[in-house]
Amino acid sequence: MRLRRLGTFLAATTLAAAQSVGVHTQNARSASAGASGLQLDALDRSADACTDFYQFACGGWTAKNPVPADRSSWGRFEELQERNNETLHKILETAAAGRDAEQKKIGDYYASCMDEAGINQRGAAPLDPLLKKIDAIAGAADLPPLVAELHPIGVNIFFEFGSEADFKDASTEMAIADRGGMGLPDRDYYLRTDPKSVDLRTQYVDHVGRMLALAGAPAAAAKASAERIMALETALAKAALDNVSRRDPAKVYHKLATTELQTLTPAFRWDRYFSGIGAPPIYALNVTEPDFFKTLQQVFSSTPADDLRAYLRWHLIHSSAAILPTTFVDENFRFYGTILTGAKELRPRWKRCVQYTDGDLGEELGKAFVKDAFGPQAKADMLKMVHELEAALEKDIAALTWMTDATKKEALTKLHAVTDKIGYPDRWRDYSALNIVRGDALGNSQRSNAFEFRRQLVRIGKPVDRGEWAMTPPTVNAYYNPLQNNINFPAGILQPPFYSASTDRAVNFGGAGAVIGHELTHGFDDQGRKFDARGNLKEWWTEADAKAFTDRAQCLVDEYSSFTAIDDVKLNGKLTLGENTADNGGLRIALMAYLASAAGQPAAAEDGFTPEQRVFLGWGQIWCENRRPEVERLYAQTNPHSPGRYRVNGVVSNMPEFQKAFQCKADAPMVRKAPCRVW
Ligand SMILES: [Zn+2]
Repeated sequence: MRLRRLGTFLAATTLAAAQSVGVHTQNARSASAGASGLQLDALDRSADACTDFYQFACGGWTAKNPVPADRSSWGRFEELQERNNETLHKILETAAAGRDAEQKKIGDYYASCMDEAGINQRGAAPLDPLLKKIDAIAGAADLPPLVAELHPIGVNIFFEFGSEADFKDASTEMAIADRGGMGLPDRDYYLRTDPKSVDLRTQYVDHVGRMLALAGAPAAAAKASAERIMALETALAKAALDNVSRRDPAKVYHKLATTELQTLTPAFRWDRYFSGIGAPPIYALNVTEPDFFKTLQQVFSSTPADDLRAYLRWHLIHSSAAILPTTFVDENFRFYGTILTGAKELRPRWKRCVQYTDGDLGEELGKAFVKDAFGPQAKADMLKMVHELEAALEKDIAALTWMTDATKKEALTKLHAVTDKIGYPDRWRDYSALNIVRGDALGNSQRSNAFEFRRQLVRIGKPVDRGEWAMTPPTVNAYYNPLQNNINFPAGILQPPFYSASTDRAVNFGGAGAVIGHELTHGFDDQGRKFDARGNLKEWWTEADAKAFTDRAQCLVDEYSSFTAIDDVKLNGKLTLGENTADNGGLRIALMAYLASAAGQPAAAEDGFTPEQRVFLGWGQIWCENRRPEVERLYAQTNPHSPGRYRVNGVVSNMPEFQKAFQCKADAPMVRKAPCRVW
């Protein structure tokens, strides 16, 4: 049910925060789109572009698009995703009606998810066999086989296990053991001492208690258990690295022999865990955070059996909550939806079931989606634009004044080695080993998780399959994978406002073009630059060039750290550095690529804007959004992407090209005195 981490462990290289799903209709141009494809009624013409460009580009849209009650944020991504959901909905309703054998799995999965009455009738009984097993453990010594049974079905306890390319030999899959086992969104949630964070922890403990009570524990006992679960998770949080440190690949790469892992946690028999999950022979693995596993030893050896059982019960119930009876769903939403992200209403069931089907059978559903909605024109146009963007980045690198020729040569080698994936996989995932049973929603979810877990396990020790996708085709998002040096654009995003075959090229370059530029730049941000052309973690920079990069990046750290997310919460310039670097580099090379492609053509105004202005407006208008205060706070602390306002203003204010295009005065707010520039 939860979206497993698909593929990239270094996940902070996407275009936007994880969205759910999206599919499309190719001609979804709104009636208010101008001849250029710009959304004219999204503009706020009373605002001055040189004072607040985001307000100018988006003020009309934000005024007309309040966050819907069942959302915590609402922007162009969500708007497109919602349109796409309608298409997926139709596909799934037809599939559920059950005449097409090819769509039986997605139809049965979706129909089972939609059967709220049946789910309510069964109550929490489907969890009983596992709850009994949890009750039977007498202490930490009994954990390995049980953890091995719970991990595959998606229960996040103590640590995470899977496979990932070996950072230093990116052609080979290696086992990976990562920290895990916490129910709050980030380790800092357990440690911050400000009143809001303290209050949130109180609410979390209350929620854990309520969930245990729903599953049958007496109220007083549930409350006491929740306190001890909180203490256990806090111990894990204290041992975990913060999210800025985790951006440094060297800090999360520790290749250890399994015997060394055993030495870190003597109380946990890894051989029993490995045989429990059915792992192939494992001799070495990436133990991302050895200190975390050292602390696990303390947790295992000092936690009373009662508390271990309570912790396991909580996470089992929590991981299943979305597909349990309504009382569980509502309580889960009360905490994770309302308290944490500010949403007022639960989303309609069909929308949730569309999202879960995409999460669990994404390529089966995606296959139906691209057949329905993805044309060859978008793929061809996109590929052409990718090549134009790559040429622009090449020119940009060649012209850099701060980089030596030796490093430039390596950078160009890396750029030329980037592979482009557009739309959907060449080879679809084979789900035939996954058993979907109509009428068994929880079982379907657990078996889907187990299928994905197994799929990762069998890859250990084998060559990396670079044709795989970490996002499903209907997704409105994009990503760069540093371990594979490839850029990936799912079909779901290749439509308005990002791209339209009938839109003016300037607007397409400001949207899809800058998205391509963003992903390409990720290969050269604070994280991506540490991997070489083959995806190996390897130094290819001279010391002087690395220092010049870091100095320039610091300018972006300072710039974005000065932006306010909400109240007294500033953006974390270090957490968002990679994304901000990608935004700044991406728009710059998109503009370069547009100008190169338009060379020799008359620079005609359309909708009253020059071509350069339309490139900037194309960029501005993909980031229009409204957010609730709760999610603004959550994202400032956990999301490596800056809010839309700063993705627009933070970038254009660094570009003399923008000042020129809009004829801004030198002292205008959108003209930084000392503009930051890395790429
Ligand atoms: Zn990104």
